[in-house]
Amino acid sequence: MKEIKERHLFEEKYRICGMLGRGRFATVYKCMHKETKQYFAAKIVQKHQSRVDTEISILNSFRHNKNVISLFEVYQDSRESVLILELVSGGELLYVLGKNIVTEYDMTHVIKHLCSTLYCLHYKHIVHMDIKPENILICNTLHKPALRLVDFGFARMLQNNRPGNLEPLRGTPEFLAPEMLRCDNLDVVTTAVDMWCVGVTTYITLTGISPFQGDTDCETVARILHCDYYLGDDLFGGYSRDAVDFISKLLVPSPRARMTAAECLNHPWLSKKKRSKQRQYTLSSHVISSVRAALSERVISDTMSMLKLNLRELSCSGDSNIKPSTIDRNYKSSYK
Ligand code: ADP
Ligand code: MG
Repeated sequence: MKEIKERHLFEEKYRICGMLGRGRFATVYKCMHKETKQYFAAKIVQKHQSRVDTEISILNSFRHNKNVISLFEVYQDSRESVLILELVSGGELLYVLGKNIVTEYDMTHVIKHLCSTLYCLHYKHIVHMDIKPENILICNTLHKPALRLVDFGFARMLQNNRPGNLEPLRGTPEFLAPEMLRCDNLDVVTTAVDMWCVGVTTYITLTGISPFQGDTDCETVARILHCDYYLGDDLFGGYSRDAVDFISKLLVPSPRARMTAAECLNHPWLSKKKRSKQRQYTLSSHVISSVRAALSERVISDTMSMLKLNLRELSCSGDSNIKPSTIDRNYKSSYK
């Protein structure tokens, strides 16, 4: 991708054929190149110039990684940017899960692809910051999955792999790593933030349940800070012990104790080749669509971004039944 072109030239060159998806910042359309008749995805973002610049520069530097979405062209004016991306026709991860009979073994392939993509990003000190099922697209079928990671608008480049400062909270409440919710240490952004999200994503894909989701954002945050999630047999009994162990080594409060992408790839859940004892399961579509709706509605709000400042005021008189002192005490005892 060399030059940025004038925004009005986009319509001259492409025809929009329908919507593919919508995120908090962008709407993505399927479009056809009028001359070559080839299909692409056009991601249209209004304003948010710094997000767009980050996304363009990271996609350019990862254009040889097949699991990172390819960027072909950019059209821009002062109001709007159009990113011409490779079209991924399979859909978002949860959508594909809802439509197929998927085994635990199939899931190990998806998570393996995700971890190897993150390994490459993290090797170059880039943190994606928004790993979640909506940003993981599947190319064809899950049984031979090719995955594309999208949405690099929140991504951060760490200087010499040193932790980065926390800016206003980014991401989706139930995917936020506990260190991002603490207000006493701002140097918290490391590659471990993404690995927490891999844990949450794996949990959601296996159970259809978001592990920290509370009835309110306040409750969700308190549960994250307590690292309060459920791995009981009634939910995970059918899965291998390796699956449970994998999740439990990612959803740990201390970023330093959390598995890295390389450690995930060496974990038996991803490295064992055998599929024999692993269970076949089908996630019912209505569970998937309700999780999906809940996830997309609960995108972090501006109010939430104040949360890190106000965490100590998260009082027991509010929605949550947890006193700030309890949060502090519990958090410190679990933070190795
Ligand atoms: P935002 O930054 O607003 O979250 P995303 O880049 O995540 O925008 O795109 C929003 C949605 O559009 C995605 O969750 C996905 O469903 C769809 N989408 C994005 N890129 C593509 C693509 N290249 N091919 C197909 N669908 C896509
Ligand atoms: Mg997105």
